[in-house]
Amino acid sequence: MKMYDTTQSIEKYLNVELECSCGRTHYAPIKAVNIGPGALASIPGYVRDFGYTKPYILCDKITYDIAGKRCEELLRTAGFDPFVLIIRHLGFDEATLGEIVLNKPDDCDLMIGCGTGSITDMLRFSSFKLGLPCFTVATAAPMDGFSASVGIMNVDNLKATMPAHSTEVIIGDTDILKAAPYRMTIAGFGDLVGKLNALNDWRLGAVVNGEHYCPHIADLVNDYVQDILGKADRLRARDPEAIGDVMNALLISGASISLYGSSRAISGAEHHMSHYWEVIGDQRGRPFAMHGEQVAVATVLALSVAEALRGRTVDFDRARAAARSYDPDAWKTLIERTYGSAADAIFALEEKFGKNRTEGRLRRIDALEEKWAEVRSTLESAYPAEKLRAMLRDLGCPCDPKDIGVDEALLRDTLLVCKETRGIYTLYQLVWDLDLTEEITDELVRDLRARGAV
Ligand SMILES: [Zn+2]
Ligand SMILES: [Zn+2]
Repeated sequence: MKMYDTTQSIEKYLNVELECSCGRTHYAPIKAVNIGPGALASIPGYVRDFGYTKPYILCDKITYDIAGKRCEELLRTAGFDPFVLIIRHLGFDEATLGEIVLNKPDDCDLMIGCGTGSITDMLRFSSFKLGLPCFTVATAAPMDGFSASVGIMNVDNLKATMPAHSTEVIIGDTDILKAAPYRMTIAGFGDLVGKLNALNDWRLGAVVNGEHYCPHIADLVNDYVQDILGKADRLRARDPEAIGDVMNALLISGASISLYGSSRAISGAEHHMSHYWEVIGDQRGRPFAMHGEQVAVATVLALSVAEALRGRTVDFDRARAAARSYDPDAWKTLIERTYGSAADAIFALEEKFGKNRTEGRLRRIDALEEKWAEVRSTLESAYPAEKLRAMLRDLGCPCDPKDIGVDEALLRDTLLVCKETRGIYTLYQLVWDLDLTEEITDELVRDLRARGAV
C-alpha cells in the first residue's frame, strides 16, 4: 500500500506496509491500539481474536490496584485463567527478569504488562526473550516508549537499551489515565514538545549532512504534536479526551521508530541534554526530574540556541581554522571532567561515529556555507522558545533549568558536551562545527541568569 499524503488516524499506520516516495517502506508491527473511556474492557476480545488462551499479567503493587486487578477480572469473566505476577524486585534489572522467568506458567502464551515506563520496558524485553507476544495496558502517559520496539533495563547497574519487540496491542483507558497524577500527563506533553526540536535537527541533518529524510514521517509526527499544542488548556483542565490525544500522539511518536527504522524524527539535541542529565543524576544518586520534564526544559534551551544562531553572520573561515586546529586531547580532558565515570563510553562512541574528526567537519562547514540560506530558514521555522516556555509554565511543567535543579555550572557543561551522548547530527553539532559553542553558551547562560532561570 502507498504511504498516505496527509496525516491519518493512528490505526492506519499499524501493521501495514506503506511504500513511501522517500524510497523506504514504513512498517510498524503493532496490531491494535485502543485509546478511550472504558478501553480496558476490550482486552478479553483482543486476547480471543488473536488466538491466545493463557495470559501472564505483569504489574507492581500500585499498577495492580490501578489496572491489573480489573484486567484479571475481565479476563476471568470471559473464561480465561490468567496468572498475575505482582513484581517484588523493583530494580528493573537482572533480579526482576529472574522473578518474571521463575514465575512464568509453563502453559502461558501471552504476556500482558500493566504500567508505564519500567514495567512495559521489562515486558517487551522479557516477553521477547521468552518468545512470547505481549500486550500493554498503560496506567499513565508520561513518555513515548509504549510503542517502541526496544526495552530499557538495568544491566550491571547501568541503564541498557535491550533488543526487544513491539507490543501487539496497546490499551490506553482514559478512565484510568485521567486518574494518573497530573505531573505524569504533563511529562508526556513535555516529551512531545521535544519533537519540535528533534524534527528541526533531522531537517538540518538532511540539509547539511546528506542524511535520508522522509517528509511524510516528519509531517506525521509534527501534525500530532501541533494538535497537542492546541490542547494545552484542555490538558490543564484534565480533560480526559485531551489526555487520550496526548496518549495517541505519544504512540505515533514511539511508532515512528518502527515506521522509519530509527528514532531520527523524535529524538535530537533536546534528548541528548536529557540523557546527559540522566548520566549526571545517576552519578549523584538522584534524578533531576522525569524524562519528559527534562526534555521540556531542554527543548526551550535548544529552541533558544536556534534563535541565537539564526541572527548571526557566520564566519566560515574561522570555523575552518577551528576544525584544523582541533585538539583531541583537550576534548578528552573536557569529557573526563564533564562525564566522570561515563567518559569511556563517550570515547567509544566517538571512536565509532567520528563526528568530531576534522575531515568530516570541514565537509559539513562547506555544506553549511553553500546551503546557509536553507539552514537559516530551517532555524527560522523553529517554534518560538519564549512561546513554548510560557505554555509550559502555564501548564505547571518545568521549563527552566532552575525548575529541575540544574545550576549554572551544570548548564554550561550540558551545552558544551551533551551532543557527545549520541552519534547523530543535531543543532548542537552544527554550532560546534561553526566554533560557536562557547560563544552561544555564554550568551544563553548570561540571559538565563539575568531572568533568574538558572
Ligand atoms: Zn517515507
Ligand atoms: Zn523522550
